[in-house]
Amino acid sequence: DSITGSIRGIVNKIRHQDDVTSLSRAISELKKAFLKADVHHKTTKELLNAIEIGTKNIGIGQDNFIKVLKEELTKTLTANGNQGFVFSSTPPTVVLMTGLQGSGKTTTTGKLANYLKTRKKKVLVAACDLQRLAAVEQLKQIAASIEVDIYFDEGEKNPIKIAFAAKEKAIKEHYDVLLIDTAGRLAIDEELMEQLKDIKNAINPNEIFYVADSLTGHDATKTATTFKEKIGIDGVILSKYDGDTKGGVALSIASQVEVPLRFIGIGEKMPDLEVFIPDRIVSRLLGLGDIDGLAEKTSAIIDEKKAKEVTKKIKKGEFNFNDFLEQLQMMSKLGSLKSIIGMIPGLSSMAPALKDMDFENSKEIIRIKALISSMTSKERENPDLLNPSRKKRISLGSGLSEVQVNKILKQFKNASKMAKQLSSKGGMKGLQNMLS
Ligand code: GDP
Ligand code: MG
Repeated sequence: DSITGSIRGIVNKIRHQDDVTSLSRAISELKKAFLKADVHHKTTKELLNAIEIGTKNIGIGQDNFIKVLKEELTKTLTANGNQGFVFSSTPPTVVLMTGLQGSGKTTTTGKLANYLKTRKKKVLVAACDLQRLAAVEQLKQIAASIEVDIYFDEGEKNPIKIAFAAKEKAIKEHYDVLLIDTAGRLAIDEELMEQLKDIKNAINPNEIFYVADSLTGHDATKTATTFKEKIGIDGVILSKYDGDTKGGVALSIASQVEVPLRFIGIGEKMPDLEVFIPDRIVSRLLGLGDIDGLAEKTSAIIDEKKAKEVTKKIKKGEFNFNDFLEQLQMMSKLGSLKSIIGMIPGLSSMAPALKDMDFENSKEIIRIKALISSMTSKERENPDLLNPSRKKRISLGSGLSEVQVNKILKQFKNASKMAKQLSSKGGMKGLQNMLS
């Protein structure tokens, strides 16, 4: 958040072409923002060096600074690869979910199962957290909600035996994927590490994921490193990368732990999991939104034809109020709404402010809906028609003041302008693949 919030100010420090002093000033502001956002001090140093040199190389200026900044952040996040889910050559792909207590293991197990299920995979989850009282029940409920099979054995006290039996079931019944939820501890302790090692040896998983709570900042980097050293991890899933997280933790983990970031959790609901795609994260970190991610997420929920229409419209800058209304109606199916807002260029900087509010019933949205419902269908399609007398009519019809009407119209115009700019400037690879 602190990077997103201060990036404009940082860039504006650069006043003139080739002004070295102003570049230094921007770099030192950037340093503050990085440290505030929990970017590891070593990572910060490396990044600042690279950004300073890179900018000087192509010529000091605001655009070049942002260009280099984006490139370097992306480079850091991509350094160890980032391949999402990897299937083993012979199913089932067995994945061991590890992490501290409360980091989001059980929720993430469900989210991953859901992710794989929507990709037509046959998934089994196994409840191997026998530490916490309600842990098995929690996974049962999650599995039921996403209609995924679960293996548990409430008579068994040994998680290793459960994991082993779950794997046998997965093999015998031809599951594509087995996800094993394990117990965590409040802090790292030997007993936990031993248990995980034993499970690992018993079932020989294809992947060990470490679920890191991004709200824990620097601690997330430290514990991930310990897990890597003690049991070996193949990837990190960053949970709770929504709301109050200081986005820098992704950079720290990527550069200090040196394992690939595979997925991010961006809310409490089952659809709130995304493949970790560095340039998208960077765009969001810099408050530029994420049209690719938005399009992808929408296309999984709405039909492909609609998604294509919408993305084309955004590209052409023709996204209108009708499209907006339709999107609002579909958004409820997309998981946490503030995570969606974070992907919309021009609105992304609003995401932190939304916190846990009920977006659909928020004052803002009720106002926008009131405004739109007072517009004729021609006006919704073409907001440029809105001259003062039409605005007055809409103001009367919607119960909004003319100032409010103007404000919303202006916000909408800015948002669609930014969306168009961003989509025509690149970062569209994912979208283009999807459209082709
Ligand atoms: P575990 O002890 O590691 O299994 O953690 P849980 O899966 O039980 O999650 C702990 C809490 O974190 C729960 O309240 C989850 O709803 C919440 N949580 C997990 N992932 C996310 C996320 O990506 N975003 C948010 N906001 N909350 C999450
Ligand atoms: Mg759990």
